[in-house]
Amino acid sequence: MAESAETDWVSRFADEVIAEAERRSPGKPIVCASGLSPSGPIHLGNLREVMTPHLVADEIRRRGHECVHLLSWDDYDRFRRVPAGVDPSWAEHIGKPLTSVPAPPGSPHPNWAEHFKAPMTAALAELGVVVHAISQTEQYTSGAYREQILRAVRERARIDAVLSRYRTKQVEEYFPYKPYCELCERDLTTVTAYDDMSTELAYTCECGFGETVRLAEHDRGKLVWKVDWPMRWAYEGVVFEPSGVDHHSPGSAWIVGGEVVGDVFGGERPIGPMYAFVGITGMAKMSSSKGDVPTPADALEIMEAPVLRWLYARRKPAQSFKIAFDQEIQRLYDEWDALGRKVAAGQAQPAELAAYRRAVSTAEGPLPMTPRPVAYRTLASVVDITTGDPDQTLRILRDVDGVAALDEARPRLDRAQRWVDTQMLPDQRTRVRREPDHELLGSLGETERESLRLLLDGLDAHWSLDGLTTLVYGVPKLQAGLAADAPATPELKAAQRAFFALLYRLLVGRDTGPRLPTLLLAVGADRVRDLVGP
Ligand SMILES: [Zn+2]
Repeated sequence: MAESAETDWVSRFADEVIAEAERRSPGKPIVCASGLSPSGPIHLGNLREVMTPHLVADEIRRRGHECVHLLSWDDYDRFRRVPAGVDPSWAEHIGKPLTSVPAPPGSPHPNWAEHFKAPMTAALAELGVVVHAISQTEQYTSGAYREQILRAVRERARIDAVLSRYRTKQVEEYFPYKPYCELCERDLTTVTAYDDMSTELAYTCECGFGETVRLAEHDRGKLVWKVDWPMRWAYEGVVFEPSGVDHHSPGSAWIVGGEVVGDVFGGERPIGPMYAFVGITGMAKMSSSKGDVPTPADALEIMEAPVLRWLYARRKPAQSFKIAFDQEIQRLYDEWDALGRKVAAGQAQPAELAAYRRAVSTAEGPLPMTPRPVAYRTLASVVDITTGDPDQTLRILRDVDGVAALDEARPRLDRAQRWVDTQMLPDQRTRVRREPDHELLGSLGETERESLRLLLDGLDAHWSLDGLTTLVYGVPKLQAGLAADAPATPELKAAQRAFFALLYRLLVGRDTGPRLPTLLLAVGADRVRDLVGP
């Protein structure tokens, strides 16, 4: 059950959380928490809000402890603004709870919040992230927080005193509860009177409506954010909840909440590392219907779940990093494959091994992996050159890596296909020439013609990825009278570069392209002879 601690940041937090949970509430399930607002598409950067506690909760479960990862959907928050691409008439819903706003036109979901929750929920399932989702709409409207609300209102002077330490200007009279208007459903309300004895609360709304309710029975309103968050820490007994940098400035919810949770709710602030920003590189051709926001679902279209998990597992929360949608994804995959080989050979360092393990499996079991992980850059080149034709793709993958059926290369093949389709710019796409470039062939000198002859002569004997690599580097060596294992000199390198450029011009009409051995395999021996031959 217990394993060697201190192998990586996740283990260290798990140690700390287990000890703290034992101190706070021995014998109870350990609670880790995340919070997300479904006010629009969930940005890929916000995945850290979920992945950080997921990894810690998963480590705690691996050690045999009972652990719950709560995902609070802040779907009872107000609708703040109409995002670009949505009918401006949605402005009439500003101020309503997100669950009371209609979903964007054409959505199969019952409301705005559910529309944006659904793709995130699906992405989390694909990532192997097990959460217990909580709708704050359900919590508030069912009266689950009634005692907590009454307590916050009773202790409003105390909360106000905490807040005033960070405030620069005075507020009229502080009230920590905001009713949603019974008539128009919006929160454009002002509390005009409150009686602590009867809990009678009078409010007016900008729409002209006004009424008096008994707070002890009212379930159409919510605590303001800086009170709502610490209330839930206490209510749910949260021991671990990270948050973004923006929550940690003086007077922010994290700082204020840390005082309010004890003073008012008799709870404690969770262990909560501050996590750094996650950036995105690339991201070509995003559809504007999605609001131009890269989401976890977008990332999972171009990379496998274990790779995306790995990005979060290998970096400490305080380290920022970038998720590549551009060519950089090929290098990322090279690094991932290299780590896989290291792990298989038993040569990975403890922290590397821990991150790898967290990427490929959870306490529930292993995540789906590609049986034959052909290099991503090779797959991308192949589907680029074949424009995804399955027969051609299989022929090449058989030559490249002995792939017997395309399913062996899936799901990685599908991710690479998607990357080529959505992220490769038109001027990066490879188009194999239909006809030989007679003009160029006719203009070649004797040395160049000889290099092409040597290539064609060796083609059949070298028809594999490794063989063709040896061949294309070897031709200029042969011409210079050097041995096949001769060390590279500046002259040799220049000759190799010139030879490669000539081949690219003849095959794809450009000076560069996919790696030559892959390109040759993809083009096929007959067509190579046709395009390069005399
Ligand atoms: Zn109203």
